Amino acid sequence: MTALLEVEDLRVAYGKIEAVKGVSFSVEAGEVVTLIGTNGAGKTTTLRTLSGLLKPVGGQIKFEGKSLRKIPAHKIVSLGLAHSPEGRHIFPRMSIEENLLLGAFLRKDSAGIAKDVQRSYDLFPILGERRKQAAGTLSGGEQQMLAMGRALMSQPKLLMLDEPSMGLSPIMMQKIMATIAELKAQGTTILLVEQNAQAALALADHGHVLEIGKIVLSGTGRDLLHDESVRKAYLGED
Ligand code: ATP
Repeated sequence: MTALLEVEDLRVAYGKIEAVKGVSFSVEAGEVVTLIGTNGAGKTTTLRTLSGLLKPVGGQIKFEGKSLRKIPAHKIVSLGLAHSPEGRHIFPRMSIEENLLLGAFLRKDSAGIAKDVQRSYDLFPILGERRKQAAGTLSGGEQQMLAMGRALMSQPKLLMLDEPSMGLSPIMMQKIMATIAELKAQGTTILLVEQNAQAALALADHGHVLEIGKIVLSGTGRDLLHDESVRKAYLGED
């Protein structure tokens, strides 16, 4: 069976600095796969390359068996890859509903769009309650919900989430992680980048540990969660 996403020997550089140095992994339909690792490991660079925002210097990216290397970013969205970026990038002066609708900019099925706006409100009731308010009035965690809702509005086959727990309170983080688990239960395929290794591995089917541009360890979420070196390096244990 072909994986939904196959990344092979991916290399990405900023000028002379190679940030991703031959990374390979795959994501099967219906799975949650996580990339964990400290600051600067190359996680964001990998996601931005999959989205077409950065061009690789080497390697292959295949989505449903087709190479993405020569495809521009907007076309990649229409193929079914959605990216909820680090730092959220919502539009603060636009309303919550307008922000969600932006995520559907490639769609023309207004009934389907309305249904998916409602789906975001079902997932995140606070967004529905405040739908007409400027998105900039939301808390950090609520903005994260909006960024996820907006990414889902393109009906992605693969949802890529970059550090959804960043800067959130423990309670808000738990809410976001619970929503990711709910999306998985609904059949959404997710590639999750996280510095919070514990939370990410607890819900991932597979995980990969990235260190300075390379995958140093791979396994099921459960195996990595119990791996001694992961526990020492990423879960703060002695
Ligand atoms: P973080 O959690 O801090 O985002 P990360 O694992 O996502 O970490 P990247 O942001 O992908 O890591 O960074 C990988 C490497 O590339 C780092 O050494 C970083 O300094 C470098 N880098 C990232 N963006 C740029 C850029 N625009 N120009 C030059 N170097 C960059």
